[in-house]
Amino acid sequence: MIEATDAQSSQPPAVSEEQTVSDIPARDARVHMTNYRRMPVTVVRGEGTRVWDTEGREYLDFIQGIAVNSLGHANPGLADVIAKQAHTLIATSNLFYTEERTKLAEMLVRLSALDRVFFCNSGAEAVEGAIKIARKWGIQHRNGAYEIISTHNSFHGRTLAAVAATGTPHYREPFGPPMPGFVFVDFNDVAQIKAATTGRTCAVLLEPVQGEGGVNVPDADYLQRVRAWCDEQGILLILDEVQTGCGRAGTLFAYEQAGVEPDIMTLAKGLGGGMPIGAILAKEACAVFEPGDHGSTFGGNSLAAAAATYVLTQLTEGGVIENARARGEQLARRLAALEDISPLVAGQRGIGLLRGLELTDDVAPDVVARALGRGLILNPVRPNVVRFMPPLTVTAEEIDRATEIVGGIIQDLEAERAAR
Ligand SMILES: *Cc1c(COP(=O)(O)O)cnc(C)c1O
Repeated sequence: MIEATDAQSSQPPAVSEEQTVSDIPARDARVHMTNYRRMPVTVVRGEGTRVWDTEGREYLDFIQGIAVNSLGHANPGLADVIAKQAHTLIATSNLFYTEERTKLAEMLVRLSALDRVFFCNSGAEAVEGAIKIARKWGIQHRNGAYEIISTHNSFHGRTLAAVAATGTPHYREPFGPPMPGFVFVDFNDVAQIKAATTGRTCAVLLEPVQGEGGVNVPDADYLQRVRAWCDEQGILLILDEVQTGCGRAGTLFAYEQAGVEPDIMTLAKGLGGGMPIGAILAKEACAVFEPGDHGSTFGGNSLAAAAATYVLTQLTEGGVIENARARGEQLARRLAALEDISPLVAGQRGIGLLRGLELTDDVAPDVVARALGRGLILNPVRPNVVRFMPPLTVTAEEIDRATEIVGGIIQDLEAERAAR
């Protein structure tokens, strides 16, 4: 409790330890802007797939910072790299060379089908930069073309150009006239992309699997057909792999499974294992940035770059991607099996360890609230879709436990409905 304070005193009120932890939600609500609807949990600590709250309750965390903690919480190797780097060099700006930034860029170029890298700090920033590259390329190489074809239900971030590119109107409508130059087509419909392509088109922008839009998986040949159309028309294919990239798909990048190569790719979320870092990768032919065109003060700072290099090393040499693939298949099987226990379950879909459980009714928020009560953190990505994004280091037992909890909840919901 706050001690009664003397109104005359200039001393700030003493805050006890107990008050610091138990009153966070109320204190938070007084000082933060009200854009987030948080879950009623104050997280104090994490380890691997698990987190603990102020009450000492343990949860299996199947959100992981929204797909950012690729190696789980408090990964000891990552923590060591970050601590060591923090004691050596955190940031120098892009006015200087650093080994950390160069090493990470070399690694991304070696591991991907792309040739050049620009570092930023988030997914939205990566998309912003990708839009600038595509527009400059179109202006230079396609007679001033600047229009980008994007998809309904897509998500590309919250900055003004990224929301203009995002196919969810309510994310941009409150903010006045959107940036022009974006047209929208249905996801998984190549004919609509063809019909929308004009002399003004410079690029097609897609998520290989729509994440925030509901974990929407296109047909197996969709990206190949879009790639073929882009080649035929001489326009760029930008893949936003902010969510699907860096191992989440069960391969380092989701495009590998589609058998296509993008001209430009955006990364962020899982890249830094929780450290904020984003990247734009481009093929040589469209890496059109010149001195002065773009920049980021924090972009590629040594701390984030060292963390990302460690994450990529663990993914590719430490067996983490193989684990993500195997656990992703297990999660898909377990979720598919839930179809047998209740007509409330319509099915599962996704890629690697990005999975959605589709329900036949809008009960996803209810399922997620009940899961929280049983020690499992999930995300209701749509009213009828629950999203699963465990760390890429998740164990088989943790997948079993999480899906058992969800199965129990579905059975309860089913029984309650039958009783009504
Ligand atoms: C999350 C996400 C973004 C935005 O990333 P931020 O780091 O929140 O700016 C962009 N694109 C995709 C596909 C995403 O999932």
